[in-house]
Amino acid sequence: MSAASVHVPPLPQPGDWDECHACEAPYRHRLLARGEKLRCSRCSELLAAPRVASARQRGLAVALTGIVLLVLANAFPVMTFDVAGARQSNHVFTGVQGLLAQDYAPLAALVFFCAILAPALYLVLACYVLTARCLGRSWPGDVRIWRLVEKLAPWNLVPVFLVACMVAVVRLDLLGTVTWQKGAVFVVLLSFCCLILEQLRENAGQEGDSRFRPQIDVRIRRQRALALVVSGAILYPFANLLPVMTMTVPGDTAALTVWGGVLELYHVGLWPAAVIVFLASMCIPILKLAALGWLLWMDGKPDYQRGRAKIYRVVETIGTWSMVDIFLLSVLVAVGQLGVLASVRAELGALFFAAVLVCTLFAASSYDMRMIWRGARA
Ligand SMILES: [Zn+2]
Repeated sequence: MSAASVHVPPLPQPGDWDECHACEAPYRHRLLARGEKLRCSRCSELLAAPRVASARQRGLAVALTGIVLLVLANAFPVMTFDVAGARQSNHVFTGVQGLLAQDYAPLAALVFFCAILAPALYLVLACYVLTARCLGRSWPGDVRIWRLVEKLAPWNLVPVFLVACMVAVVRLDLLGTVTWQKGAVFVVLLSFCCLILEQLRENAGQEGDSRFRPQIDVRIRRQRALALVVSGAILYPFANLLPVMTMTVPGDTAALTVWGGVLELYHVGLWPAAVIVFLASMCIPILKLAALGWLLWMDGKPDYQRGRAKIYRVVETIGTWSMVDIFLLSVLVAVGQLGVLASVRAELGALFFAAVLVCTLFAASSYDMRMIWRGARA
């Protein structure tokens, strides 16, 4: 396929008029000084930044490093757990196997997707597009693939997995001896790579990519987002009332709800971990549902548009942290292979919890920033 067969509009020149990709306000391209950024005067979205080429080169270097680190992070155990002479090695994948063995295939699939598959696709596809751009070429499907990279970004949850591992370690420390292994170093480095690439992606993707911005059907998006928010709100009480896991230690079996897990961490003096789980698992999902509900209710109204844009950006950023509890469960479930000495079983509440999470993630991606401004104009 030749590049000539793809319709590529010319790059905007200084003085050309364009539309902000977030709120569709008109703005004029101009030459930018080094370090200067052009932001939308209406919604303060980043519109253009100079040195895009260097952002691409750095992005490519970070993405390539990320691929190597992802392979290493999966090849080596992240931690080992010793209790009464028995030893269990935990790889990133062990939790997926543990959840599958307990017949919780949807949870296993979610953990596999967010901790392994989505990061792998995100890094490999970003590499493909950034290589083409660094060479100044247009490769087959690169514009679509870049859009896919943007869609995959909220599902790449390696940094969240890392936090879940830390919480799991302080918890498992009460039952036996936990030792960090080589894989943990690679997970830490990979988390940094993903966070840096997210920062660079904004700049690397600029320069005329808004030319390929797809049109949105506001009505369909609003309906879809509303259906997902309502489903999430219905499922949320079940996710909190039903136990998410059963922990068995010698002489004691306890079914824990999300709140029960928070209390248990607090009572044994691990209050920082308790705060993390409380914020990530209980506050963020309900705040996210409330925020999205409010955004949808305000849709088409001309009030608080800047505030709504800010809230939507926050919802997009913090939303994924509720995955901490599911990752925590996957790490703990892996210990279940030690049998009667210490075992952790996933329970029905975890399925509801994961369903709420998936609803909020899809609801946030169904919503589009342009709806804030477009509805009011129509
Ligand atoms: Zn704007």
